Amino acid sequence: MRSICAMRSLLAAAAAASAPTVLRAGAFPLLPPLLSLPLRRGRAARNMLGAARTVSAAAQSRLGGGAAMDVRAAQSGEIHVIVGPMFAGKTTALLRRVQAEAGSGRTVVLIKSDKDNRYGLDSVVTHDGTKMACWALSELSSFHDKLGMEAYDKVDVIGIDEAQFFDDLYDFCCKAADRDGKIVVVAGLDGDYKRKKFGSVLDVVPLADSVTKLTARCELCGRRAFFTLRKTQETKTELIGGADVYMPVCRHHYLDGQVVIEATRVVLGLDRSTVTAQALK
Ligand SMILES: [Zn+2]
Repeated sequence: MRSICAMRSLLAAAAAASAPTVLRAGAFPLLPPLLSLPLRRGRAARNMLGAARTVSAAAQSRLGGGAAMDVRAAQSGEIHVIVGPMFAGKTTALLRRVQAEAGSGRTVVLIKSDKDNRYGLDSVVTHDGTKMACWALSELSSFHDKLGMEAYDKVDVIGIDEAQFFDDLYDFCCKAADRDGKIVVVAGLDGDYKRKKFGSVLDVVPLADSVTKLTARCELCGRRAFFTLRKTQETKTELIGGADVYMPVCRHHYLDGQVVIEATRVVLGLDRSTVTAQALK
């Protein structure tokens, strides 16, 4: 087993090195929260018809009309889930997907949690600086009202970033895809720094058309990283932070890192949650 000093040196060296980039940055321009392009074809055209039908279907549903189910069945939505540790390129993958949909003539919107304000609340920003305008919400259930019925009906694709922060993710995805025929792309952490499920992201896997687990690069050895190591002594699950607080690690270095952090806590007699990465540098 490595000594604590040796591990500190490793961690310090890793922190000094530039953060690895697994997915190359795209060159997406900043877009308004609701992007409407005139060219609509294929599925988009069907969705345009579907949007009108949905209103009709919803009205019939409220009246108990049996025809509503037939209309909904004809206008099927989709759910795609992107998970992985921090720095795996989840937001980059989400933006690429949403941008591609917009490029195909679909109307797209992007939502993120208002808990994460590291880069401001008006845009989703990747770790490498790519960004796109978004809605920052505390809960997904408020999206429909904030956007308005008319605008919501025109939306084809809904991208959700940092989805682990939304407690109502499951219900929102159900309604958006099953009832309203939307394509929903969900990106978020599957696990927290303890490797336990984070929020509701894994709950929507049974609803999903596709699930993609991305990996990062271990900051200590460069191998594939599946986990997020928290470098501080803070123990609450939701701790917003970047490379100052977290690092992607492989299985081996996740386990080593836990040993170092625990040993540091014991050696230094730390019992408060205010101790940070200084102990590891
Ligand atoms: Zn490693």
